Amino acid sequence: MDHAKRIGVYPGSFDPVTFGHFDIIRRACANVVDYLFVVVAVNTEKNPFFSLKEREKLLHQGILGLGLENQVEIYPLDGLLVDFARAHQAKIIIRGLRAVSDFDYEFQMAGMNNKLEPAIETVFLTASDHCQFISSRMVREIALLRGDISHFADQHVVKAIKQKMQKKEDE
Ligand code: ADP
Repeated sequence: MDHAKRIGVYPGSFDPVTFGHFDIIRRACANVVDYLFVVVAVNTEKNPFFSLKEREKLLHQGILGLGLENQVEIYPLDGLLVDFARAHQAKIIIRGLRAVSDFDYEFQMAGMNNKLEPAIETVFLTASDHCQFISSRMVREIALLRGDISHFADQHVVKAIKQKMQKKEDE
């Protein structure tokens, strides 16, 4: 059966991108969508640890590492997600679900997005066993306390965090 290409968007702040995010991207591309826009929030609630450009670059390096550069494109998100999705013919929003604590927020957001654009469905992928406990916030906190983050994020992130900390010390 011939079917139209399934296009998805995976939004997040990715500050920084972790193995948890890459796991979702890999599985979404393998099992859910033909093409995926990873969209990086320009306005995060707090001051981001990494700038938009840095977050995009770290994502890009990881996507190359996964060999998914032909299936994934990275974009900044400076408006409503559903507007971005509509403009890019995407009908699926991909989100990752970890613990129960993710649920309330994710449920609410999926409901709001569905009201804004009923033609777009949110699809949740549950975190893989080895990624259940990984969050960007924890990675940042561990890094600031000089802990080893290499279990949670790739070598590019490890390097970028080291450089940023060094720069802060030099200031
Ligand atoms: P975080 O929630 O860690 O600050 P983001 O806002 O960038 O990260 O998250 C983007 C999406 O990725 C959200 O749907 C979030 O639930 C999901 N996600 C984040 N970390 C993981 C993980 N370890 N496993 C599965 N999904 C995750």
